[in-house]
Amino acid sequence: MSGTPTRPLPNTSARMAPFWSAAKQGVLVIQRCRRCGQHRFPAAELCSNCLASELAWVEANGRGELFSFVVVHHALDPYFAERAPYLVADVKLTEGPHMTTTLIQCPPPQARIGDAVTVRFERVSDDFFLPVFRRA
Ligand code: ZN
Repeated sequence: MSGTPTRPLPNTSARMAPFWSAAKQGVLVIQRCRRCGQHRFPAAELCSNCLASELAWVEANGRGELFSFVVVHHALDPYFAERAPYLVADVKLTEGPHMTTTLIQCPPPQARIGDAVTVRFERVSDDFFLPVFRRA
């Protein structure tokens, strides 16, 4: 291996295709149960609340709060090792589901549980735009 390490791409499944397609357009979508209205992320076949299989993709408002985070100091992957220390965040979306992501423009010492955050999209490749968050 030589040269600049490239960013690992997300693992994808057919079930998550609508999510990645929307992210490419700069839109955050999550699933919503048509029966009980509960939102969910990541995608599933059944609603975890009422077990209905009628789940629709809906646009999330892109806001949430920093629910938890860890600071990674030693990354195994060369791409991430160059960026350590960096922050891996658990963002609770205002619709309810949690999303594992990162905060941009926020050095780890500045992050605080409960910080209000808003989504941005980071281009990883022509096909992948990752939702990341910034403090509001
Ligand atoms: Zn439901």
